[in-house]
Amino acid sequence: MITERMRFLAEDLDDLRSKGLFRPLRVLGSAQDTEVVVDGVAVLNLSSNNYLGLTTHPRLKTAMVNATELWGAGSGAVRTIAGTMSVHEELERKLADFKHAEASLVFQSGFTANLGVLQVLVKEGDVIISDELNHASIIDGIRLSKAERSIFKHKDMDDLERHLERHQDKRVKLVVTDGVFSMDGDIAPLPAIVERAERHGALVMVDDAHASGVLGRNGRGTVNHFELDGRVDLQIGTLSKAIGVLGGYVASTQTVRDFLIHRARPFLFSTSHPPGVAAACSAAIDVLLAEPDLIERLWQNTARFKAGLKRLGFDTGPSETPITPVIMGKGATAMAFSDRLFNRGVFAQGIGYPTVPEGRARIRTIVTSAHSEAQLDRALEAFESVGKELGVIGK
Ligand SMILES: *Cc1c(COP(=O)(O)O)cnc(C)c1O
Repeated sequence: MITERMRFLAEDLDDLRSKGLFRPLRVLGSAQDTEVVVDGVAVLNLSSNNYLGLTTHPRLKTAMVNATELWGAGSGAVRTIAGTMSVHEELERKLADFKHAEASLVFQSGFTANLGVLQVLVKEGDVIISDELNHASIIDGIRLSKAERSIFKHKDMDDLERHLERHQDKRVKLVVTDGVFSMDGDIAPLPAIVERAERHGALVMVDDAHASGVLGRNGRGTVNHFELDGRVDLQIGTLSKAIGVLGGYVASTQTVRDFLIHRARPFLFSTSHPPGVAAACSAAIDVLLAEPDLIERLWQNTARFKAGLKRLGFDTGPSETPITPVIMGKGATAMAFSDRLFNRGVFAQGIGYPTVPEGRARIRTIVTSAHSEAQLDRALEAFESVGKELGVIGK
């Protein structure tokens, strides 16, 4: 019996259930928008990465439909065989320009971009020096690499300096950091990282998954935000968050692009994007350039929502971006808080250990440019009511 042979998995799941950590998938019965239907219930959405509301933007939808009519539903091959269409190359030229880089290369997702780049860029005898809170895809990419790994304390520049000194005789040193950290919403100290890396002759790679479309002019990311254009060797981005579609990319030099085309395993061995996806991503970059007011509204909404939470007495941690954690402490409190918010018509997920440290469980919220002030006020009212019910505020 298959069930019997899978028993070891069922036991692991029972263990999760007994610890209250089993989380069924929440199912949307609507488009990804500010108001969504979740598990059949209409709620206000504070849980998406759809920073600029682009998932439903008319220009993206039209581009996707038109490209599908013209080019078909799928690409039919990996990029290196017959799966490179002119829409893919057009998107890559646009992304390179957008990031003020010489060239770019698109992957199926941000996750595979990190895996693809980190696995092959550096080799045995090299070292990758990585912030301890970097994204799982960076961690896995480093695991796949033959280079040594060296983990520095979160944003601790003295510790980074020690790691650079310890590895000074390595052939290649690569420092890698998230641009914006996904759980706390804090920003990497990129100027200090670049200064140290330059002094030690190290390469710098920044993963701007949560910064592209959010920080910098027209959403160019942290490199542009800190006016470091031309001084960061590799910029990773995702097309799945603010860009609103799906995919990942690296923006760097033509040499890096050529090297990855020949070596990056997800690029070589996995089929390219459907043409509709590439065309919609391309349209999204056009929107970023044409509608800078979207990013302005995103930041206005962020300021309004954060100020409201603080006024109510909530702890929003070290967040400096639209990613706003509302710290609860205990995992059980965060889960109960999320459930009660849901009953009041607000969808915001609770996140606990091991995704965040023990005692730092939280409700993770992201407002978007598409939220209205009335919606944000409604969300704050729900936070206030539940916060008082559970004794998180007003003690
Ligand atoms: C979300 C995220 C990714 C993965 O991007 P996808 O396009 O969803 O695969 C990679 N890095 C960071 C820092 C992220 O936050």
